[in-house]
Amino acid sequence: MAQVDVIIVGAGQAGCAAGYDLARSGLSVLMLDRHASTGHKPCAGGVTEKARRLYRFPLDPVIRETVSVLQMSLALRRETPFAADSQVCVMTHRPELDQLCREQAQQAGAELQIIHRLDGFRCHSDGIVLTVDGKPIQARYLIGADGANSAVRRLAIGGGAQHGAMAIEGLLSREQCRRYPETTFDLGAVPDGYGWLFPKGDHVNVGLYVRTQNGAKVDRDALAAYAMTRLGSDALTHVQGFPLGTWGHRQRLAAGRVLLVGDAAGFTEPLLGEGIYGAVLSGQRAAAAILAGADVAADYIADMRRWSGELKRVHPLAAMFYATLPLSFGVLKHLVRPHLMAGYAAGLTLGQSKRLYWGARF
Ligand SMILES: Cc1cc2nc3c(=O)[nH]c(=O)nc-3n(C[C@H](O)[C@H](O)[C@H](O)COP(=O)(O)OP(=O)(O)OC[C@H]3O[C@@H](n4cnc5c(N)ncnc54)[C@H](O)[C@@H]3O)c2cc1C
Repeated sequence: MAQVDVIIVGAGQAGCAAGYDLARSGLSVLMLDRHASTGHKPCAGGVTEKARRLYRFPLDPVIRETVSVLQMSLALRRETPFAADSQVCVMTHRPELDQLCREQAQQAGAELQIIHRLDGFRCHSDGIVLTVDGKPIQARYLIGADGANSAVRRLAIGGGAQHGAMAIEGLLSREQCRRYPETTFDLGAVPDGYGWLFPKGDHVNVGLYVRTQNGAKVDRDALAAYAMTRLGSDALTHVQGFPLGTWGHRQRLAAGRVLLVGDAAGFTEPLLGEGIYGAVLSGQRAAAAILAGADVAADYIADMRRWSGELKRVHPLAAMFYATLPLSFGVLKHLVRPHLMAGYAAGLTLGQSKRLYWGARF
């Protein structure tokens, strides 16, 4: 039977972050993904400053735009620049970002294998056995980094389907756009969510986000209508929708020798649906817990408590934010704007920025 130290299912942002750190420390790491190409991922590729600072290697080869001003509107009206003194975010094209991270993890020593299906899972006293395409592979630990619809979560941790946020996106080539936009958030472009325009040089990533799947319908027609209104064309390509893992505060993150990371663990922030930060952070912290080698599951859960706690607090905030959007927009624009942008530029989370705001006022 094939045997490795760690199997990681999913070679996206969370899986590659874990794979890189584990392989760099000398463990044998097998990353399994069902896609050889990285072109399938629905993600707008916005990497906030706090997320960018987590990476172990420069993202420069895949940065398409550097952003220090966000245009924010209230349902496409009252467009207001939210400016910072330095970059708050970099724009990447997600297939290029994933490719870079896969290459880095492989160069660090992780192996990547493309698979069709996970057939079974068994846990014993010294490790786990994962059956992949009919063949068993033995490992000391299993990391589930396989996204919001995680098969590892279903197989190895249990619990029913989770319902979080939802987003749909498409690409509009620059030539098709009436104008090349700045990075834009149209809060309330859909009820309980927003629309975005993320410029990427040769194209604009256009999308719609809803905080819960009980809310507004975000489908191809809604996306096309939004693109037409904002950019004068609905000639979108690569249109894809996908759920986001926004339930991390209420699910088991680990059990025994199995750890969930990224969207599989529900580590996406629910206000704007930013998931790359939680993915890279949890991938790295899962690797650290395995490398420490004590009570791995308990160490990992304890280490992620700060982020899980922040997510728990952001949920009611996000619900209130969208429910009272005209008021929220006014507060953002007139009171919070400089502190928020200073916090983002300094690589702080929303919670840390909020504390910065309170600290400055009281
Ligand atoms: C439309 C959209 C736009 C978004 N835009 C942004 C953004 O701009 N910025 C941001 O920070 N976040 C954004 N997010 C959220 C972000 O994409 C996710 O939070 C992030 O990708 C999570 O990373 P991950 O590694 O956990 O999972 P994923 O990136 O989903 O990677 C999971 C990997 O697992 C593989 N996999 C899945 N199932 C299996 C299986 N059974 N067997 C083997 N392999 C499997 C997949 O092929 C994939 O490679 C967006 C999400 C959506 C839906």
